[in-house]
Amino acid sequence: MRGVSHNPSRVRGRGNRGGRVSVDDHMGATEGSGDADRRIGRRALLIGGAAAAVGTAVLARDELARLWWRAPGVEKPRVEGAVDFGGAQWVAASDANWRRADRPDDYGIDMVIIHVTQGSFASAVKVFQDPGHGAAAHYVVRKDGHITQMIRELDVAYHAGNRAYNERSVGIEHEGFVDRPEDFTDAMYAASARLTARICARYAIPVDREHIIGHVEVPGTDHTDPGEHWDWDRYMRLVRRARSASA
Ligand SMILES: [Zn+2]
Repeated sequence: MRGVSHNPSRVRGRGNRGGRVSVDDHMGATEGSGDADRRIGRRALLIGGAAAAVGTAVLARDELARLWWRAPGVEKPRVEGAVDFGGAQWVAASDANWRRADRPDDYGIDMVIIHVTQGSFASAVKVFQDPGHGAAAHYVVRKDGHITQMIRELDVAYHAGNRAYNERSVGIEHEGFVDRPEDFTDAMYAASARLTARICARYAIPVDREHIIGHVEVPGTDHTDPGEHWDWDRYMRLVRRARSASA
């Protein structure tokens, strides 16, 4: 279409029917499949190990109850429509595009991953609601600075194309195209920087480029976003400013 350099081989992901939208596709298909199996497997392993280790049925039952309670996604109460960032508007992503978890208790969060949607804000929100897409990010930032949250930070979003990085990160999408620097507006940078600063404050994440990275920097990815026009110096300056203002 526009000769975008971002991930040309993957713009027709599972949810991109007919190439109608070109939103950043995060290889969620490979990542989502088998994820439930893995969780069940881990839980079974934990319970099995506990049962073997304790001597009596009563102890085993107590231990099983404790482990079950500690299993991901069953601890914290959820409030319908709740957001993690004040001012964000909640629009739920399809639950096929993320995995219920209990972060930061089951997985620590030490990273923010910056994306560019390769499409409009509306198309990103739409495909993240599509169970066939297999991918979604926690947040989508619009050019005017509006922020929509689609997945709770408690949960693991399929956005990085790398399971370990998904489990440890919060993903933020930005409306626009990697080859159109004019898409990255002042309002977008400012709003996104405030959001990232809050995430860093909440989980004690250092504000540096080791912990605030682009999708392109995720090991194994074939994605290029946010691309060469994303102004990292400016963004990090804004994040640091917002972080110290709220400290
Ligand atoms: Zn991306």
